[in-house]
Amino acid sequence: MARAAGAAEAAAGGRAGHRLTETPAPAGPGTTLRGFFGVFRYSRRAIELVWSTNRVLTVAFAALTLIAGVLPAAVAYVGAQIVDSVVAAINAGGRDASRVIEFVVLEGVLVASIAGAQRGLSLCQSLLRAQLGQRVNVMILEKALTLELAHFEDSEFYDKLTRARREASSRPLALVTRTFGLAQNAVSLVSYGVLLVQFSPWAVAILLLAGLPAFIAEAKFSGDAFRLFRWRSPETRMQMYLETVLAREDYAKEVKLYGLGPRLLDRYRDIFRRLYREDRALTIRRDAWGFALGLIATIALYGAYAWIAVTTVQGAITLGEMTMYLMLFRQGQSAVSASLSAVGGMYEDNLYLSTLYEYLDTEVPRSSGTATRGPDPSDGIRFEDVSFTYPGASEPALEHVSFHLPPGRSLALVGENGSGKTTLIKLLTRLYRPTSGRILLDGLDLEEWDEKALRERIGVIFQDFARYQMLVGENVGAGDERHFEDEARWREAAEKGRASEFIEQLPRGYHTQLGKWFREGRELSGGQWQKIALSRAFMRTRADILVLDEPTAAMDAQAEAEVFEHFRQLARDRITILISHRFSTVRMADEILVLDRGRIVERGSHEQLMQKNGRYAHLFTLQARGYR
Ligand code: ADP
Repeated sequence: MARAAGAAEAAAGGRAGHRLTETPAPAGPGTTLRGFFGVFRYSRRAIELVWSTNRVLTVAFAALTLIAGVLPAAVAYVGAQIVDSVVAAINAGGRDASRVIEFVVLEGVLVASIAGAQRGLSLCQSLLRAQLGQRVNVMILEKALTLELAHFEDSEFYDKLTRARREASSRPLALVTRTFGLAQNAVSLVSYGVLLVQFSPWAVAILLLAGLPAFIAEAKFSGDAFRLFRWRSPETRMQMYLETVLAREDYAKEVKLYGLGPRLLDRYRDIFRRLYREDRALTIRRDAWGFALGLIATIALYGAYAWIAVTTVQGAITLGEMTMYLMLFRQGQSAVSASLSAVGGMYEDNLYLSTLYEYLDTEVPRSSGTATRGPDPSDGIRFEDVSFTYPGASEPALEHVSFHLPPGRSLALVGENGSGKTTLIKLLTRLYRPTSGRILLDGLDLEEWDEKALRERIGVIFQDFARYQMLVGENVGAGDERHFEDEARWREAAEKGRASEFIEQLPRGYHTQLGKWFREGRELSGGQWQKIALSRAFMRTRADILVLDEPTAAMDAQAEAEVFEHFRQLARDRITILISHRFSTVRMADEILVLDRGRIVERGSHEQLMQKNGRYAHLFTLQARGYR
């Protein structure tokens, strides 16, 4: 029975996302022991977490656990007294039942106390669950704020983050509940032992030893499943991803039009089938062992039953004592069962916590820079022989890039897709660090700049700028965190970004909700979004380096040229960097860098490059012909 409960719970947990994992694991005394203790690996950290979340509740939780653990033995003891006092009263002529009544009342009080303790436990749990869920979520998000872009682009890491978030509100408390539950059962077992030892120490040995094999087996299988689940993580991740693609609004359009649904769903099913085969193997093995070992326990227990009954018949113990010992055995068995199912669930909680703590313990290289200004503000930006290779990539994305861009100048980056233009911007904004070479701002290496001071200097609009599902005004305000809610500044920036016209026509003007996730959310066209993004850049009035990474691609060529011209005028003593595929805009820049596979292949002004009659001139002519 115990095994069935444990397995059902594990199977249910498996369906809820964390599937059991199993491929044949090497078994041996070492793995058994490790599997056994593996189940408790994170219990201490979980308890610390709960303790630091709310001490009063934790103490109450522990105290109630203890009370709920001891009381059942007391009930069994009083039960015996009732039977014995009934027998004694009958033998005494049946006149005085007052002692019997006293014991009955006492038992009633004890049973009511058990019920009270259990209510108290579930109350503590509900309160702790809410607090703990919030606390863990905040911990996860706070950590997310300190991470580098590279972390988010690392699939393994991203996996940790999403898994940590998914079950943040339930897992830590579940582990604590189960750990305490285990403790409660242990306390019960000890108290049963104290009473049973009067019958015979052997009876205590039988009670504990009979349950031990099943307990160890459960812990071992749980430990195995715990380790093996992690190996299977990529497949589970793919399943999660397919779920997203099939059920999220931003994919729905394409999935429908291209009819990708059935194929993707088939993939989803295939993965399940593969994983299920392994799950089945583990579950069958677990349950077969559980049944066999559970049978030993049952045989031992019923042997003890017979022994107690025979002893009573022989007159060595009273009827009341027999009732008590039988009850102790029965309850002892169910305490063992409850422990088994607790252990069965604990591995999943452990799995969760291991992911959580790995995520929280991720080392983030702290920038040591503290400078808020450089020695030579007239120097602007300098790239000195900068090369960069993405983590895990074999080819460098940028190689030996050098250029100098003083304040007041504008630069355009030209090159095919994948030639390294965006990467260059990511390095400049220190989202990544160069693999070799260095980047200077105002004569000071970016490494030495205080990160915040550096970022305040730069306003960037990426090709894939964020579209916040918030108010229109906040979408503009996002450009300068300090003025996020400053309506006057929104208007000013939107004016410059040419967004004010259409914003004012929206039903609630700057207070219109954007995006489909919320009620009355409006969707904007691509071009309108880009105007919002441009306005966002204009929020950064203190930024003296402005970067436009193709944010105008959804506008027509005329509008793009106007925007850039506008930008240049507003940014007379600033540095402007532009990435565009439109030469009509690019030609306006003071300096143009032509990139090819991470290298600068040509540089100069439009006129110089045209005279040179190289790649730039070729591409320019090609495009100009298209327009004619
Ligand atoms: P562009 O902006 O010129 O289109 P990118 O700078 O985005 O080009 O990309 C340059 C090269 O770096 C490409 O080969 C691309 O595949 C690679 N790359 C871009 N982003 C990443 C990334 N996050 N991780 C690994 N490789 C990347």
